[in-house]
Amino acid sequence: MATAEKSKIEDNVVHIDPAAEAERELTDGFHLVIDALKLNGIETIYGVPGIPITDLGRMCQAEGIRVISFRHEQNAGNAAAIAGFLTKKPGICLTVSAPGFLNGLTALANATTNCFPMILISGSSEREIVDLQQGDYEEMDQLAIAKPLCKAAFRVLHAADIGIGVARAIRAAVSGRPGGVYLDLPAKLFGQVMDAEAGAKSLVKVIDPAPAQIPAPAAVDRAIELLKGAERPLVILGKGAAYAQADDEIRAFIEKSGIPFLPMSMAKGLLPDTHPQSAGAARSTALKDADVVLLVGARLNWLLSHGKGKTWGDAPKKFIQVDIEPKEMDSNVEIAAPLVGDIGSVIAALNARLDGSWKTPPAQWTESIRTKKEANIAKMAPKLLKNSVPMDFHSALGALKNVIKERPDALLVNEGANTLDLARGIIDMYEPRKRLDVGTWGVMGIGMGFAIAAAVETGKKVLAVEGDSAFGFSGMEVETICRYNLPVTIVIFNNNGIYRGTDTDPTGRDPGTTVFVPGSRYDKMMEAFGGVGVNVTSPDELYRAVSAAMDSGKPTLINAEIDPAAGSESGNIGSLNPQSVVKKKK
Ligand code: ADP
Ligand code: MG
Repeated sequence: MATAEKSKIEDNVVHIDPAAEAERELTDGFHLVIDALKLNGIETIYGVPGIPITDLGRMCQAEGIRVISFRHEQNAGNAAAIAGFLTKKPGICLTVSAPGFLNGLTALANATTNCFPMILISGSSEREIVDLQQGDYEEMDQLAIAKPLCKAAFRVLHAADIGIGVARAIRAAVSGRPGGVYLDLPAKLFGQVMDAEAGAKSLVKVIDPAPAQIPAPAAVDRAIELLKGAERPLVILGKGAAYAQADDEIRAFIEKSGIPFLPMSMAKGLLPDTHPQSAGAARSTALKDADVVLLVGARLNWLLSHGKGKTWGDAPKKFIQVDIEPKEMDSNVEIAAPLVGDIGSVIAALNARLDGSWKTPPAQWTESIRTKKEANIAKMAPKLLKNSVPMDFHSALGALKNVIKERPDALLVNEGANTLDLARGIIDMYEPRKRLDVGTWGVMGIGMGFAIAAAVETGKKVLAVEGDSAFGFSGMEVETICRYNLPVTIVIFNNNGIYRGTDTDPTGRDPGTTVFVPGSRYDKMMEAFGGVGVNVTSPDELYRAVSAAMDSGKPTLINAEIDPAAGSESGNIGSLNPQSVVKKKK
């Protein structure tokens, strides 16, 4: 290290007397970051090594933190985000500067949008050079870029501040509404040396990082009054309810109250989809006809048609909303009874009020939902049983429905267009936090990151059901799955393209814009890295191959040949995809 550089570093820390130096124990930025993370119970880091954090990753591993190295930062970031969702501890993603940081940033923004606690830690280049725009290696003002895309962003310049920086990042990620936090660690910080004892004292253990937030008694009264007056009440459970890990309270509330419930996709399994009170298969009727709707950790965003319009029908509605974020109330429509607090505390308070005076909802309402549900399930059944070749989405998903039914503790990762929309409805979930999918943005590319973290964090078997297009965004991580020998089974719904495999270029020059190489064999990708690859053409074959893979726990990729004409444009959200009605004259 050049003398000038060394003296600059030392300006920031302690001035070392060479004689005393030999006597004293020293620490540095590397060790302080690791100690700070360990002190706060961080056990796993997801990342991609490189300048300036290569040694940090190595040293984390040597110190007992599990480091999962990916092939692309976005997938590492998605892994960290879903680790946060599954554990209520911030998932950590570690990246290099500028381009690596930007790759991770998509995942950080997605985590924030989905209310998943995550910390993106990125190395960065020298502030002095970045701020004067003198052209450093991977020069970029990362802090400024991260700020609008996450919940909080911090930069640490002095080794003595690492403890407080990590503590602030952790608390920001998990307290209140969880979200993504950016922590900027310039290269020079890692080499800063300080006295080991002073370093140890500078660390901060975050006490009660996500404090309970008790709802006001008057707010609970208001909600209970509304529910008591309801003739057609409905509970909507969102992924906030899954995140809260208040499973017993929620189940007790649903069962004691007798109110039908509708799970959002990642809340499926909080109560089994086969529960008699589930309105899942009667979604449209339930939303249209309900008069009082209790939202538990679910936002009235586009996924719920903003609480208005045709989805919600003409029947006048009152909303009760349970959310930790006060600003969420009235986001789209009036909330008649806001219940601001953490879901565990709020539902416990509601449960305490379901006393002798509580009456279950009128039978006319619960019966109308049950009848509709049974009719819809009966209508769907034959489509799921068809042993057709080529497979369509329904027949293939019918096979996977049985695989999960027989393995209710497996985690299901799901992305795609038709593959997503149809799997959400067809595959029943039985346990909380087992279904992980595209979330609030409906984003493609979460697949392998989510699957890897699901396996690492829970130790359970993982089934990733992927559209062929969706898989492409993170497909290279099959190498990561093989390298860490994770019990992940991937099923590719291969219909040769995005939505369908039938598009053509009207000029005849190129392939159509939404199609892929016909007859691609994704299973060969897995074999390239020592995993198991299987190609299947019928639902029976699919069922047998997936069952065997899940039982073996070996990394497996099953290429499921789906009829290229089977999908619909944009799946269920075709209405969001503008299409030109103008025909241009040639
Ligand atoms: P979904 O997409 O399943 O409908 P959303 O992501 O829209 O779910 O909503 C989740 C909501 O849950 C967010 O508004 C978030 O603030 C809230 N939330 C997250 N954790 C908690 C918690 N522990 N207590 C209360 N609300 C929570
Ligand atoms: Mg496809």
